[in-house]
Amino acid sequence: QQPKELDISLLVEQILSHDTTALSQGITLVESTQAKHAEKAQQLINQCLPHANTSIRIGITGVPGVGKSTFIEALGNTLIKKGKKVAVLAVDPSSTISGGSILGDKTRMETLVRSKDAFIRPSPSGKSLGGVAQKTRESIILCEAAGYDIIIIETVGVGQSETVVHSMVDFFLLLKLAGAGDELQGIKRGIIEMADAIVINKADGDNRKHAREARNQFKKALHLYPQSPSGWLPEVLMCSALHNEGVEEIWELIERYLDIVTQNQYFEQHRAEQNTYWLLQTIEEQLKTSFYNHPAVKKALQSQIEAVRQHKITPFAAAQFLLDLNKG
Ligand code: GDP
Repeated sequence: QQPKELDISLLVEQILSHDTTALSQGITLVESTQAKHAEKAQQLINQCLPHANTSIRIGITGVPGVGKSTFIEALGNTLIKKGKKVAVLAVDPSSTISGGSILGDKTRMETLVRSKDAFIRPSPSGKSLGGVAQKTRESIILCEAAGYDIIIIETVGVGQSETVVHSMVDFFLLLKLAGAGDELQGIKRGIIEMADAIVINKADGDNRKHAREARNQFKKALHLYPQSPSGWLPEVLMCSALHNEGVEEIWELIERYLDIVTQNQYFEQHRAEQNTYWLLQTIEEQLKTSFYNHPAVKKALQSQIEAVRQHKITPFAAAQFLLDLNKG
């Protein structure tokens, strides 16, 4: 559904008074790709911004089937019992590639969906991961203005999705399964360095022994990495999201992390760095969009690609030609 003509001041007021319908409407506006909505979306974000920056942002990643939904449901309920308000957002890169969705149906988070203290929103779709990520980042601001204390951002390990989610959260958690022995095989380069915690899920029943072995392997692997500037040493834990075992301990771990990084001021510094990154990222995205949408570029792009493929012109000369068109 498309956002109707919206009174932004009214919408802000409603969002600030924790009206979830207004929050959903606001996010729909932010996610809209129509040019006429862009200005209103910016007004909305700007007016919410003074009320943002108040939450703890937690990123959760893992392959499909690892138990992300089940885990978020368990963690979310644990947090709500402690009096917190929890928002769950998603960054699903598959929506940019196939139009499909790997993260799927949020109704899997059955109790969370029904809780008045939880807000669950599926991934925005978009042409590029950068675009999807930017919308999620703006939605974080709206959720914070609406009074959510904890924002959970879920993603799958496709393309660069972990990196973009890592760049918008305070704590990054990698969910893993115990496998056939060599746990580190097939794990993406760089992902271990990003994780503040690795959690071996489905550590229940016959799986417990394997889970313990996997935990030991990851612990050993973590020792090989240099210490993060946060002063925090990433930990490996086991849990059973399905049976709600070990979930409380994971929250305690996150609280310990927050204590450390608040005291040593890494928390603030990290957010400042993330803001800088997003500033530059937004410029790049917008330059790219305006370049490819420029009428002269649109018209000439295909023939330049053809010319390059037929060796009639070098890629560099073709690029320069197109970039010059964009100036005109
Ligand atoms: P996602 O694709 O990562 O979101 O994974 P889901 O949360 O949908 O879980 C995939 C399947 O694993 C479901 O059938 C869950 O019931 C099951 N599952 C999730 N967590 C656990 C767990 O801790 N133990 C066991 N035994 N099964 C689990």
